[in-house]
Amino acid sequence: MAQKPAKKVYRKKKDFSKPDRDNERDFQIKRKDQHRANPIPKKIDIMEVITVSDLAKKMNLKASEVIGKLLKMGMMVTINQQIDSDVATLIASEYNCEVNLVSLYDETLIAVDDDKPADMQNRAPIVTIMGHVDHGKTKLLDAIRSTDVVGGEFGGITQHIGAYKVTLPGKGDVVFLDTPGHAAFTMMRARGAQVTDIVVLVVAANDGVMPQTIEAIDHAKAAKVPIIVAVNKVDLPEANIDRVKQQLSDHGLMPEDWGGSTLYCEISALKKIGIDELLDSILLQAEMLELESNPNVRAEGKVLESRIDQGRGIVASIIVERGTLRIGDNFVAGIYPGKVRAMVDDHGNRITEAGPATPVEIIGLSDIPGAGDPFQVTENEKQARQVGGKRQELERQGQAKNVKKVTLDNIFDKMQDGSIQEFNVIIKGDVQGSVEAVQNALEKLSNEDIRLNVIRASAGAIIEDDINLAIASSALVLGFNVRPTPRAQVLAEQEKIEIRKYNIIYDAVDDIRDAMEGMLAPERKEIVIGQVEVRDIFKVPKIGVIAGCYVTDGKVRRNAQVHVIRDNIKIHTGKITSLKRFKDDAKDVAAGFECGIGIENYQNLQSGDTLEVIDVIEVAKKLKANE
Ligand code: GDP
Ligand code: MG
Repeated sequence: MAQKPAKKVYRKKKDFSKPDRDNERDFQIKRKDQHRANPIPKKIDIMEVITVSDLAKKMNLKASEVIGKLLKMGMMVTINQQIDSDVATLIASEYNCEVNLVSLYDETLIAVDDDKPADMQNRAPIVTIMGHVDHGKTKLLDAIRSTDVVGGEFGGITQHIGAYKVTLPGKGDVVFLDTPGHAAFTMMRARGAQVTDIVVLVVAANDGVMPQTIEAIDHAKAAKVPIIVAVNKVDLPEANIDRVKQQLSDHGLMPEDWGGSTLYCEISALKKIGIDELLDSILLQAEMLELESNPNVRAEGKVLESRIDQGRGIVASIIVERGTLRIGDNFVAGIYPGKVRAMVDDHGNRITEAGPATPVEIIGLSDIPGAGDPFQVTENEKQARQVGGKRQELERQGQAKNVKKVTLDNIFDKMQDGSIQEFNVIIKGDVQGSVEAVQNALEKLSNEDIRLNVIRASAGAIIEDDINLAIASSALVLGFNVRPTPRAQVLAEQEKIEIRKYNIIYDAVDDIRDAMEGMLAPERKEIVIGQVEVRDIFKVPKIGVIAGCYVTDGKVRRNAQVHVIRDNIKIHTGKITSLKRFKDDAKDVAAGFECGIGIENYQNLQSGDTLEVIDVIEVAKKLKANE
């Protein structure tokens, strides 16, 4: 009571013309601020999510004060809970503090060496071929490859590393990136455009501009990459080149002969017409771009693709953009540290170093980075581990955000009649690219009634940690050509976590869409009836490969289907055509016994493989959505 008049006097002195409530509050905050030992900063950096205590620390506030503020906003949050950047921004704005959002990689920068002008050298252009499905991208790549003097005829390429360098005699090198052609790979293609210098847009002259043509133009424009148009299939009688030019002009790609600035080439990938002219156009465009790079620094680049390879472990295709990568270099790929143990070029040759604009495949990674992730060589092993560790920690925080998404939006949603359901999904697959494609496709399924959250999407086997996350968030686990490890399987069974295994992206998308629409048809379900360990391999003349096996679990039955699992990845499915106990044919063999197994048309068994014996039954489908 006694305070009020005093305040008014003070205010008059300061000449506040509008004594409204807002002003009063501002004023109080300011005054409080003056008493603080540490003033509230004008600007703070945060990642997408931050714990209440970290936010309080950054702002020099007591955590209790932040919690109080959140409570006023209708959010009950504890000190260790995370809030997202939107909420943090709201809180900070009350203290006139600006929030700057930083990304995973900004927080953990690895200092790069500066370029000295004398070190700069011309480098080969990196080119991506894009275009609508069936317009001839693959054919064009084949045609280009056949002109390569180093690679020789197509077929000389032994390794698929997602990219290759073509040497044009007397003219120079061009690096082509392979990008998957399907619509589901939009995101990867978008990333492909980020590493490329030039996009070659293939448009079939008989078909004209199609949806993915426009999509490709959008990606290239977004990445500010020049486009060269290759009008393909000009050998066809129904080819209409002018129509393509007209349609593309409407999208801002006006040909030079029409007064625009876009290079057009008329080609037939099939008949190998105009390929040299296209390559010349690429080199001409590259010359205009004045592409230079410094080979005398620590290597930097991008991850094109990564996967688990049987026998070699984790393998990643990298495009070196700057510097020179050498065997023994320590690096961070995405969020994982590693050391280059071996390098293979696009022709399958082992190499010891790779300069700018060179695609290579490396082994020596500690885990599987994502397609498009930055790749950077560090000063030493310690730095690689530190940066990797920090990034992983930040990534975990980001994932935790998805688990306990606390936003104003969903707090209000939840306060409503509970009509919104959340449906959490964890995606694991053998290749990062397909995992991302699935994630993209699934996230598009969210509608007003059900929100679909992909809370983890990564390559690799389904491990205990995935199941733990699934338990914490009542998620469904989807595996693409991967299997749970035995411990993960046990845990999933205990905790009633559903693991769904798929081979085809669209099957998963269809299933989930149907489940969300509450109309799942009966499905053929696989039940595992036995596990078998392959211990020895015998090559039997005329019969083929027979595996000496030990039944570790359940039983194995002749004519049953088996999945061949190697390093937790399913590599084959087939029928048991031969089952023997000693020399005799057997109908089934139980756990604890040895047996000989032959699989129909499959000679590639190795010792150490696991065979999963399955029965197929029909059941009504049921997907688990969270209440
Ligand atoms: P992508 O889906 O863009 O990779 O297209 P493909 O390279 O797989 O080609 C799709 C189809 O078009 C194949 O049947 C090719 O043989 C055919 N094709 C590609 N280029 C030409 C061409 O220049 N002329 C004709 N007539 N057919 C072509
Ligand atoms: Mg293709």
